[in-house]
Amino acid sequence: MSDRPMSDHSFEQFLGEDRLMGGRCTGCGALFAPPRAVCRECYGTDMEWVEMEGTGKLAGFTCIHIGPPSMAAEGYDRNNPYCTAAVELDEGPRVVARVENGDALQPEKIIIGMRLKVSFLHRDDGDDRKTILAFQPAG
Ligand SMILES: [Zn+2]
Repeated sequence: MSDRPMSDHSFEQFLGEDRLMGGRCTGCGALFAPPRAVCRECYGTDMEWVEMEGTGKLAGFTCIHIGPPSMAAEGYDRNNPYCTAAVELDEGPRVVARVENGDALQPEKIIIGMRLKVSFLHRDDGDDRKTILAFQPAG
């Protein structure tokens, strides 16, 4: 368990530690990832951290061939699009994340409903260290 505040910042800190964490409402048990300060179901404010397994299925995705300069700097372009997915975790919550499969991604190989597992993309950009939540095909 963790005493970190229920915030996007904490969520990102956990990502930096290779942990996908959600918030569970202690009142009704609803799960949120990223966590919320207030429960959408019962409006309770007592949340606790729970670690997600990091597995789920693809609920939807968009591939972007021409992205912002920050993405171009990471090597994404028309021949190597980056894809943003909505992933339905096995625990229930939906997270928005990058889809990766190592090599240049072929959007035609991305299928709604496919099994995915989490991966953490650590980017070290000078002082600006951040972790991108991503998923890749499982198995
Ligand atoms: Zn609740």
